[in-house]
Amino acid sequence: MHLLVRTGGLAESMSRYLIRRIEGNPAIVLRTQTEIAALEGGSHLDRVHWRDNQTGNSETHAIRHVFLMTGAAPNTQWLDGCVARDTQGFIKTGPDLSQDELSTAHWPLGRSPHLLETSVPGVFAAGDVRAGNIKRVASAVGEGSITVSFVHQVLHE
Ligand SMILES: Cc1cc2nc3c(=O)[nH]c(=O)nc-3n(C[C@H](O)[C@H](O)[C@H](O)COP(=O)(O)OP(=O)(O)OC[C@H]3O[C@@H](n4cnc5c(N)ncnc54)[C@H](O)[C@@H]3O)c2cc1C
Repeated sequence: MHLLVRTGGLAESMSRYLIRRIEGNPAIVLRTQTEIAALEGGSHLDRVHWRDNQTGNSETHAIRHVFLMTGAAPNTQWLDGCVARDTQGFIKTGPDLSQDELSTAHWPLGRSPHLLETSVPGVFAAGDVRAGNIKRVASAVGEGSITVSFVHQVLHE
């Protein structure tokens, strides 16, 4: 198995314990500074071409399966003009909302937004879609459960 990384290594985006497991697995060849240049095939994938961006060398391998992990784009276009989002589209909440963003959103309350509350009072965001979330199952679940207690708080306001 070949693991292609476009940057100089995995450390920027992966936990150390996972990197150790990859490095310690003889079945995985880690290739840094390398990117896919082309995929070839007919009714299914036959070959993968990749380029080492450091040396400029290209290679072609008979490979039938490619798994891509190239980042995430939040599916939040439908919230345009509704709740404040960051430049990548992740929903801003609580202390991450600036005074300017709250003014633009016409935040109507005397209090600041609760942690995980969006620029619309009583509307919360939890999990991967939230700006600043650390993109882990445990944090998504944790934020969901924290949100429930804030919902109760808002209902009593
Ligand atoms: C390849 C991969 C490996 C990972 N490995 C780990 C790991 O080992 N450990 C770990 O802790 N985390 C891991 N994660 C991250 C983890 O999966 C996420 O952090 C977690 O699933 C976030 O949960 P969530 O509920 O916020 O979002 P999601 O699980 O993405 O759920 C959001 C749901 O909303 C749905 N949806 C989107 N738009 C709409 C809409 N307009 N209307 C209705 N529904 C909509 C989506 O279809 C989806 O079902 C991994 C992620 C990936 C991609």
